Amino acid sequence: MSVLVYAENAGGLFKKATFEAITYAFDIAGGTPVTAVAIGPASNEELQALGQFGAARVLHIADSSFQNFDARVYARIISDAAAQVNATKVVLANTYSGKSLAPRVAVRLKAGLVPAAVDLPAANGIKRTVYSNKGFADTIAKTSVQVISLTTNAYKVEGGKPNAVVEVFSASVSAADYKIRTIEVKKVTGKIPLTEAEVVVSGGRGLKGPENWHLIENLAETLGAATACSKPVSDMHWRTHDEHVGQTGITIKPNLYIAVGISGAIQHLAGVSGSKVIVAINTDKEAPFFKIADYGIVGDAFEVLPQLNNAIKALKAAN
Ligand SMILES: Cc1cc2nc3c(=O)[nH]c(=O)nc-3n(C[C@H](O)[C@H](O)[C@H](O)COP(=O)(O)OP(=O)(O)OC[C@H]3O[C@@H](n4cnc5c(N)ncnc54)[C@H](O)[C@@H]3O)c2cc1C
Repeated sequence: MSVLVYAENAGGLFKKATFEAITYAFDIAGGTPVTAVAIGPASNEELQALGQFGAARVLHIADSSFQNFDARVYARIISDAAAQVNATKVVLANTYSGKSLAPRVAVRLKAGLVPAAVDLPAANGIKRTVYSNKGFADTIAKTSVQVISLTTNAYKVEGGKPNAVVEVFSASVSAADYKIRTIEVKKVTGKIPLTEAEVVVSGGRGLKGPENWHLIENLAETLGAATACSKPVSDMHWRTHDEHVGQTGITIKPNLYIAVGISGAIQHLAGVSGSKVIVAINTDKEAPFFKIADYGIVGDAFEVLPQLNNAIKALKAAN
């Protein structure tokens, strides 16, 4: 078996989702060396460090003309790398870019696709999420080559292996193949990326207005958490759209999701129900969120949040 993994990076830095994907690739490779492919400028140190998670070799396209993501161009590069190493399995993280790359790579390689995997292949297939995280399916791809995209935050990260050997890679694409040109990228800075956060504090319409968001932010700061919101909150411009979670927003799977003043509509739950532990805070004891929450506080957010924040701060100070 030959396994190729796409090592996604942002500005030359590799994400936790990439380390999960490489660990997963290593675990399915059954001892055969795993090759990673990385696109765009990145330091040699960063590339070599991918070995610690299980990539023996990293094929690297350093050309800065490939810095900006383009699904068509990136899919060609990954497919070229897969062909070069005769990959029978191609692993990607099921991130925003991974979701658009995996089907394209599968088409190019005439491979079966298993999207949103959450576990290693087993006799009855690969377990994956379906119906917006409301269920699981075991899927078998019968093709000789398979593309697997791994749900983020669903698989362990395991380091401690030797550094990778980095090799320059050139694919059959050039900058001229870009059909869409990115003029400017404005990044949200100073925030914990939602998709990578272990803890998320999220606010809904129950917060009454943007002027009250310090309550969410204060608790998030104490917990080292990212902040999120329901769709109406971002639609009303109380918060920016990059915080909107749910069916039409970002799907997250943190270890802890604290939903404050959010009713728990099915479209919201679609993006957060994969969280490991859910806490709901709501004045309405009949709020649907309480049906799926592990812990519920029936109470006014304006009273509960400051008390909760102070209690956690006191607990932290005491330890
Ligand atoms: C096609 C489609 C896609 C959608 N996609 C999404 C999506 O991706 N994400 C999403 O979030 N929604 C989505 N929605 C909207 C969704 O159906 C709900 O309307 C939305 O999630 C409700 O947001 P909310 O819970 O913040 O507001 P509300 O439903 O108004 O709930 C506010 C909650 O706050 C509680 N509350 C009020 N005051 C307090 C207080 N002082 N303290 C504590 N609790 C209080 C109330 O009891 C209530 O439960 C979508 C809808 C459609 C039709």
